[in-house]
Amino acid sequence: MDWSIKNHFKKSSFSVLEGKDILHEQIMQKLIYKAVEKDRLTAPFRMIGTEMKVSSDLEFSPGKSVRLEGTLDRVHYAHETVHIVDYKTGKADLISKETLRNDIVQYVQMHFDEPRYKSGFQGLFYGYLWGKIKGNNPVKLGVYPLKKVNKGIQWLYFGQTISIAGFNEFEKQLTQVLQDLFDESIPFTQTDDPERCRFCAYKEICQR
Ligand code: SF4
Repeated sequence: MDWSIKNHFKKSSFSVLEGKDILHEQIMQKLIYKAVEKDRLTAPFRMIGTEMKVSSDLEFSPGKSVRLEGTLDRVHYAHETVHIVDYKTGKADLISKETLRNDIVQYVQMHFDEPRYKSGFQGLFYGYLWGKIKGNNPVKLGVYPLKKVNKGIQWLYFGQTISIAGFNEFEKQLTQVLQDLFDESIPFTQTDDPERCRFCAYKEICQR
């Protein structure tokens, strides 16, 4: 822990932690203990990897493709299913609309329509990339908001596996987004939905 803090904040290994660093260390320790305790309650599972880099090319139009990349925070195997989990420092707003419980296509589509479900979108994106590399099999996807570590992993799609139909729909929607993005006849315009601006990384340069 001491080494991690020094390494992260680029301090000399001979320095002594003080002030805010000690607080960081204590918070990290608490989070780790709680997270491990949560894992203990869900054991057994087999860890496949952490911080796994994955990438795949998607041809969105004939002769036009993009490289999609992601880093999977955690992949583990339990109950004969791969589980992909994304750790979050902020809050995660997941879809809880009961009418979508048995409608994976609508469930996936909603992540393209509603920006507030960006955590779920990211989870689906990682699951999609995993399927591209490892072959399409249903997987469970989750997010782990560290501010609510006591709640443990929060699973997408009501804790059910995401089927191949779900990932096919994801690819279909993503392909459409990329086609629009690269279509020179469609100019870039500011969105009409100010809700989207709340989470936008380009707010400063956009001057919205
Ligand atoms: S801040 Fe600008 S670029 Fe970002 S979503 Fe809003 S309009 Fe689009």
